[in-house]
Amino acid sequence: MRVLKPFDPWGSKICTCGFKLSFNPYTGCAHRCDYCYATYIPRFWEVREKKDLLRKLRKDLEELKGKEVISMSNSSDPYPPIEKERGLTRECLRLFKEFDVKVLVVTKSDLVLRDLDLLSEMNAVISMTITGCDPLEKFAPPSEKRILAFKKIAEVLPVVLRFDPVIPFLNENKLEIIEACEPEHVVTSTLKLRRDSFSRIAKSIPSLKEKLRRLYFVEGEKIGGYWYLKKDLRFGILKKIDEFCNSLGISCAFCREGFEFQAESCDGKHLFKNIFKII
Ligand code: SF4
Repeated sequence: MRVLKPFDPWGSKICTCGFKLSFNPYTGCAHRCDYCYATYIPRFWEVREKKDLLRKLRKDLEELKGKEVISMSNSSDPYPPIEKERGLTRECLRLFKEFDVKVLVVTKSDLVLRDLDLLSEMNAVISMTITGCDPLEKFAPPSEKRILAFKKIAEVLPVVLRFDPVIPFLNENKLEIIEACEPEHVVTSTLKLRRDSFSRIAKSIPSLKEKLRRLYFVEGEKIGGYWYLKKDLRFGILKKIDEFCNSLGISCAFCREGFEFQAESCDGKHLFKNIFKII
């Protein structure tokens, strides 16, 4: 079985990523974000190692023809707490370095700092998610810690700030996160809901329950299996973030929203060294 797979963002027709390969060293995620989009995967909160992963990854890398971007990870964080002792993600990075591939590391954990020695010698871009919604991300490192990590990474590597998801009444105005990180590029997106994520959010922040229920399930729209805010509301929220980024000279893109943006790529591919235009 292949462990490098074409990225398919839950079949979304409005994804603007372009072709890239997806790789998850672990199945399941320990951060347990209430809004997580991947909880349709059975036992998702249990972090499991993939069997024989390093041998399979080497085999896939040997067969890799082009110089595709490998995105690690899209449906689970590559730095769960177990990684501190296990070092599986670090072993994968060693292989990526050996094969000289482009790696986009998507994480919410400051544990990525441990691997800066390796990453700084690779063609790597880091994408750090910071939302300021700590009550919904109880098991992930706090936002403050992530902002500090972001700044340390930015000293040696390109870093994308993933301000995602943006949740009405909760973090839509927390633009100080963008100001604090001073990123080169921001990718942002409004919250998409499923019934299970709505229940978890409502349980963690009861005051949001009725407001989100109305905005999503009464006034919103369903796109590709997820509930979205209505179009003009989404556009208004994103436009404000885009304008704020522009005022600071930061490029800004939207993820799975169906709106045009000015940035060269959504996920930060344009920040790789020597990349030709992909999208
Ligand atoms: S870090 Fe991402 S994959 Fe992990 S629980 Fe949070 S939203 Fe889900």
